[in-house]
Amino acid sequence: MTVFEKVFGTAPEGVWAAPGRVNLIGEHTDYNDGFVMPFALPHTTVASVARRDDGLLRVHSGDMPGGIVELRLDELTPGRDDGWASYPAGVVWALREAGHRLTGADIHYESTVPTGAGLSSSAALEVVTALALNDLHGLGVERPAMALLCQRAENVYVGAPTGIMDQTASACCTAGHALFVDTRDGSQRQVPLDLAAEGMRLLVVDTRVKHAHSDGSYAERRAGCEAGAAALGVPALRDIPFDGLAAALDRLRQGGHDESILGLVRHIVTENHRVEQVIELLDAGRTRDIGAVLTAGHVSLRDDFRISCAELDLVVDTANASGALGARMTGGGFGGSAIVLAESDAAEKITEAVVSAFAAAGLQEPRVFTAVPSAGARKV
Ligand code: ADP
Ligand code: MG
Repeated sequence: MTVFEKVFGTAPEGVWAAPGRVNLIGEHTDYNDGFVMPFALPHTTVASVARRDDGLLRVHSGDMPGGIVELRLDELTPGRDDGWASYPAGVVWALREAGHRLTGADIHYESTVPTGAGLSSSAALEVVTALALNDLHGLGVERPAMALLCQRAENVYVGAPTGIMDQTASACCTAGHALFVDTRDGSQRQVPLDLAAEGMRLLVVDTRVKHAHSDGSYAERRAGCEAGAAALGVPALRDIPFDGLAAALDRLRQGGHDESILGLVRHIVTENHRVEQVIELLDAGRTRDIGAVLTAGHVSLRDDFRISCAELDLVVDTANASGALGARMTGGGFGGSAIVLAESDAAEKITEAVVSAFAAAGLQEPRVFTAVPSAGARKV
């Protein structure tokens, strides 16, 4: 008997999976109309689902204590706190808001995506829910629109002001590719990325720390970016070209803006440029050279955007000192994960060096794994 049958007493109509993601380059650019380049992880959140016809949403997670959470579809409203169930509830709410007719569902989730590690377990949970309901009800929602609905669920219903990258990655990535997204117009390009074939590995190092101020600082950085764009008279920082950066910074200085705003602007403008550099290097077959761009991205997040922390810096510095091609923090910041690009035959030595450095610093052992660009959300 499956867990779904034990929990709900009936058989599921189908099983769907949606992955977590790691972002190769393009950090904090997605709420500045900028460029991002994530890829899907092999780690997924799996949903077993059966429709109901009585207007009830009943959700259960193998990863959360507390049993079944039961909600009435017509009582779903933003601002309710249903704990983890707010994520699937928000998706159902957003689908209904968009005019789709839903009748209720029983859903059981199991996940291998680490939660709160900057690897987007929240987007995996949202996207798997949206895809399953889309398929079961024949809603015909395309993947990019599905990502937007899931973002709306997280922004409005759950109340987390995230950009569009995570949901787009989970919904739209394909195996063997990183996904370039221009978050202004939503245009996408699948960029081939087969590191193993070129003798390299991308390690994800989950520091297992999440500093308490991370949510507030995200909102603060976001507001700072908006203030910077307003001061420069542009809709978003995306509109400052790389070769216009020096002039933009001068203008902010003359306007009496402090260094912290200048740092935010400098990071976003240079980060968009780094995404373009990475694409050019990959297109030119110069994959090893992206390492230096990743490290430059870390320095920018650390010194200009100021969202790194001692643990993330320790991963990056130790990896680079141990022969990595490059490394950077990834995700929201103040904890979560870092990525390390390494020659395949150096990966083990680098991993050992990072683990030893954490032990020497009295920190919990980090979780390290090799990230292979994997498939986006699908029926299984
Ligand atoms: P991240 O997306 O980086 O993992 P978030 O804080 O955005 O971190 O989302 C994590 C939250 O998403 C969890 O605290 C939980 O509420 C919810 N969540 C994620 N995966 C699951 C799951 N498999 N079952 C239940 N809730 C989950
Ligand atoms: Mg999340």
